Amino acid sequence: MCGIVGIVGQSSVNQTIYDALTVLQHRGQDAAGIVTIDGNAFRLRKANGLVKDVFETKHMQRLQGNAGIGHVRYPTAGSSSASEAQPFYVNSPFGISLAHNGNLTNTVDLAQSLVEKRRHVNTTSDSEILLNLLADELQETRTLSLTADEVFDAVAKVHAQTRGAYAVAAMIIGQGLVAFRDPYGIRPLVLGKHETATGTEYMVASESVALDAVGFEVMRDVAPGEAIYISLAGELFTRQCAVNPSYAPCIFEFVYFARPDSAIDKISVYASRVNMGAKLGEKIKSEWFEHDIDVVIPIPETSCDIALEIARCMDLPYRQGFVKNRYIGRTFIMPGQQERKKSVRRKLNAIDTEFRGKNVLLVDDSIVRGTTSEQIIEMAREAGAKKVYFASAAPEIRFPNVYGIDMPTSNELIAHGRDADEIAELIGADGIIFQDLTDLVEAVKLENPDIKRFETSVFDGNYITGDVDQSYLDHVNQLRNDDAKANRLKDIGTNLELHNVCHP
Ligand code: AMP
Repeated sequence: MCGIVGIVGQSSVNQTIYDALTVLQHRGQDAAGIVTIDGNAFRLRKANGLVKDVFETKHMQRLQGNAGIGHVRYPTAGSSSASEAQPFYVNSPFGISLAHNGNLTNTVDLAQSLVEKRRHVNTTSDSEILLNLLADELQETRTLSLTADEVFDAVAKVHAQTRGAYAVAAMIIGQGLVAFRDPYGIRPLVLGKHETATGTEYMVASESVALDAVGFEVMRDVAPGEAIYISLAGELFTRQCAVNPSYAPCIFEFVYFARPDSAIDKISVYASRVNMGAKLGEKIKSEWFEHDIDVVIPIPETSCDIALEIARCMDLPYRQGFVKNRYIGRTFIMPGQQERKKSVRRKLNAIDTEFRGKNVLLVDDSIVRGTTSEQIIEMAREAGAKKVYFASAAPEIRFPNVYGIDMPTSNELIAHGRDADEIAELIGADGIIFQDLTDLVEAVKLENPDIKRFETSVFDGNYITGDVDQSYLDHVNQLRNDDAKANRLKDIGTNLELHNVCHP
């Protein structure tokens, strides 16, 4: 998963983009980048690391200009090397720089078509392919000054060729900012504005919280298939560019990824999580009606809102029995099972008094590999718990994600080919309960009944774009398994410092 930002402002945008990226940091901690348009030149800084580490004062001083885009990266199919940090850049036509959140599912075919067009793609990133496709379509216009319609025609042709998930922000030198969302709206994108004495500033971002944090007012979500064009003069244009757009946003944004203070497609992430708690609480009450649970304990942080609602619904005490070290990275992207196990213990610590002599219900948002839950159950027992039950706010994750979330290959998923009892035994729980998929969908839909469908492939194997078959999953498998990740990590270390890639 990644986070993107784009702004056409009335004054320098470097600090605003930086601030917005820090608020989107939860969407990717692997690399960060900002590009600004300074007169006739792009200023670019990107490198591996957290936003606060990638940008030093000297970089910020160089990122001059009133328009720019930013990106935080979480690696999925691509590599973790600094050369694949975003935004990407291509010098023709005009000079275009692009930031992408998502994953394309037909990259092999697209890469081949670009070779045939004599376009060079320098990395294994699907985002660089997307940039070249857009550039190739804009090249066709042959004009020196782009009209909004020319930009939209190019986006329409990009939609016609690409499959998969993409929310994109791209800057075109001398022209403006174009942002668009795939025809299913799988990845989120929101549009906002800020009135100043000299005119209106516009901003797009992956989550509304980024706009809130920098004082922009949310106007609306970008619709599936829609493109937004903001000229450097500050005029806003919009057009639907896809042939058959239809909403199917990724449900995992609500389960885990997005911040609770964001709203995606008019759905409050926080409210949807409270609903998940209510649904799961009802299920526990009806399926375990003679339970002996003494206390509900969340596995921080995403599940706290969910667990609180389960406790309320079951009339049980809620206690924060685990304390999280906030200054340690997420465990999921660490390749290798041993590393992941150690990392859980470094990240969480149990308060013994909350466990001793009690039957506890631990709540997490989801179980992916089962590493976290197994370790945490062990910690709960070491802290003196008598019985440890486990509740997951998401259903069993049985299929890999191909739309931009780093969900491991099928055989690394603990629920792949296993039922709840088998999972409970493997992670050492006295009992386990998963949310039903219909309840999860209902919990999210309650906040915006206009959205009839969500992208739920990790739970049901139904890939919304219709082009994902076993051979594609095998291909993803090869790119993503732990061995492949370990090899890619060897690649990290090259600290790319690209400044002033294009001089006036
Ligand atoms: P696991 O140990 O693999 O079962 O990890 C499950 C935990 O990782 C859950 O507590 C989630 O909060 C979190 N999680 C779920 N999906 C992801 C993801 N794609 N990236 C990082 N963390 C995740």
